[in-house]
Amino acid sequence: MKDTVVGRFAPTPSGRMHAGNVFAALMAWLGVRSAGGQMVLRIEDLDPRAHNPEAVRLLLDDLHWLGLDWDKGPYYQSDRSEVYREALRTLEDKGLTYPCFCTRAELHAATAPHASDGTVLYAGTCRGLLATEVERRRALRAPATRLIVPDEGDPSGAISFYDLVFGSQREVLARTCGDFLVRRSDGVVAYQLAVVVDDALMGVNQVVRGNDLLGSSARQIYLQRLLGYEQPTYAHVPLLVAPDGRRLSKRDRDLDLGEIRAHDAGPERLLGMLATTVGLAQEGEAVSASALVERFSWDRVRAAAKENIVFES
Ligand code: GLU
Repeated sequence: MKDTVVGRFAPTPSGRMHAGNVFAALMAWLGVRSAGGQMVLRIEDLDPRAHNPEAVRLLLDDLHWLGLDWDKGPYYQSDRSEVYREALRTLEDKGLTYPCFCTRAELHAATAPHASDGTVLYAGTCRGLLATEVERRRALRAPATRLIVPDEGDPSGAISFYDLVFGSQREVLARTCGDFLVRRSDGVVAYQLAVVVDDALMGVNQVVRGNDLLGSSARQIYLQRLLGYEQPTYAHVPLLVAPDGRRLSKRDRDLDLGEIRAHDAGPERLLGMLATTVGLAQEGEAVSASALVERFSWDRVRAAAKENIVFES
């Protein structure tokens, strides 16, 4: 028997949803509903600065308005630090981590190239510190924690996976990110680790999100392997860009749901415009989320959408 598809919404409550977030959420929801699966809602408020009850309230309300429902949750990452700490301990007990004292300025001054998503290739500066040196530095400042990735020639550090939209992917961790952070120096677990732990413990087996996170998947798959978790299926969906090529962001007030809801009685016009971009609706058609379920397939999304999508509101 085929496993039930379990997908998720995993929003960071940092502001009002905009058309780009709605598009990714719509694709995640259609991926689940078209397969008769289950949807999890997880609020990614891991960073104490992301604690924003009003933004969460608006987010839940916007999802209801859009007709994008869920079966489990909302779960809050801010409630889950103990499970993250346990996963961190597992990695530490395997001898796969080390304290890193590099400052942000030092990291950026290093010769490392920067990937387009802001990932910095870590040069391994703190990997070989002697215990006495670690002690001396600990007295001066709190370290972050890094995960050791296999050296370049080691096949276990070459991660291959198939993305439902972007096809076959391959990444050598030693070349793209190097030893990466699993805990920040302020004690907050890193996004990469939290998301892997959450997806596994919540039974998520289909991860659908914007393609700005395509470059995080290899790190997440590597963590899944170390922690003995199943690897989910990945589908990274195109980002929406404004006609001038600028990526839509929460700063584009004209496209946030507060503005859109002030002008539209229902979500059908917006959903129709988003669905049109991946061939699921006719130009100018207004359509509900539920009416899109039977039109949806990953093949249609893949055929329509390799590049970023230009979106005019
Ligand atoms: N919380 C992330 C965001 O809002 C998404 C994380 C993920 O989908 O893995 O961009």
